[in-house]
Amino acid sequence: MRVSAYPKELSAYLIRGDWMRRNRLSVFVSLATTVLFSTLSNAKSKPLQVYAIDVEGGQSTLIVSPSGQSLLVDTGWPGNKGRDADRIVAAAKSAGLKQIDYVLITHFHRDHVGGVPQLARRFKIGTFIDHGPNLEDSNDPKQDYAAYERVLPGHKHLVVKPGDHVPIKGIDVLVLTAAGEHIQQPVHGAGTPNPACADEPKPKADDTENSRSLGTLITYGKFRMLDLGDLTKDKELELMCPDNLIGTVDLFIVSHHGWNQSNSNAFVAAIHPKAAIMNNGARKGGSPDVWTIVNNVVGPNRFWQLHYSIEGGAEHNVPEKFIANPDEKNDEGKDIKVVAQKDGAFDVINSRNDFQWHYNLQLEMTLSGAAK
Ligand SMILES: [Zn+2]
Repeated sequence: MRVSAYPKELSAYLIRGDWMRRNRLSVFVSLATTVLFSTLSNAKSKPLQVYAIDVEGGQSTLIVSPSGQSLLVDTGWPGNKGRDADRIVAAAKSAGLKQIDYVLITHFHRDHVGGVPQLARRFKIGTFIDHGPNLEDSNDPKQDYAAYERVLPGHKHLVVKPGDHVPIKGIDVLVLTAAGEHIQQPVHGAGTPNPACADEPKPKADDTENSRSLGTLITYGKFRMLDLGDLTKDKELELMCPDNLIGTVDLFIVSHHGWNQSNSNAFVAAIHPKAAIMNNGARKGGSPDVWTIVNNVVGPNRFWQLHYSIEGGAEHNVPEKFIANPDEKNDEGKDIKVVAQKDGAFDVINSRNDFQWHYNLQLEMTLSGAAK
């Protein structure tokens, strides 16, 4: 049985379900116990906070550990009078940060690393993390990598490989992919065969920086979040076929802005996220076929977009309340925030309208266990 994470839907099910009438008392006792324990455990520990910052079709995701340390994944675009750097600083200040402890660059494309010089001029940065030198032999990545290298002196610099952990306190940040390589052993508890591989067409190899994206699995207690940057299908399937080396996740930052060079069905189906955030622009990413794959896997009320996708049109966009920036002409650069608890429960909040949704993993597990 599959039960929604949302209490209102749950109430509807409780009223409708036949077995629920038979098992109502035990379910409510277990529900009350779950909520009580959840409340007690949450009272003791601070949440993990995630800000999916709007950098107009680039990536910038700020992660604030319960320890107070912070990790920024990518820095958006250069230019635009520091627009993206200003948005990152605004998110960091709203989180109460005085510095960003780690800035992780997934790969050396302009929409990810381009914002580094402007950000470094505006805000204190501790350590830069990347996958090693740019290997893409084209002008833009060469220029952007050179600009990034000019910022490195005066900061700590870590080059990581699959299996490494980012030394941030309070959460576990495991490197899954870097410089075209990936973990060889499954993450603890993962490694089961992926049946969706059988129907997945073989993708062509990608030789750009995208395929070398530094991808991470971030864990806080039972909460698991996956961010693979712009990792392309050829590489994501190496993590998913024939065996799923990652397991399932709670939150998925949709790869590559929702473009169909990434996000194969065999990959998204196997990680089976509880919720997904797509960092698309109005006219970048948000491919209708990827939208369909993600939407079908996560189901209603679990898919969030930074922008309305013009290519997606009426058929391939989530309801407006789940979109941070629905109007291209009056774009306010709003972000989507996630607050995650150690027990796996999390809230997603649209900063434009304060619309939010609660996902309670523990509740879901308790009820699906009760249904058996
Ligand atoms: Zn990108």
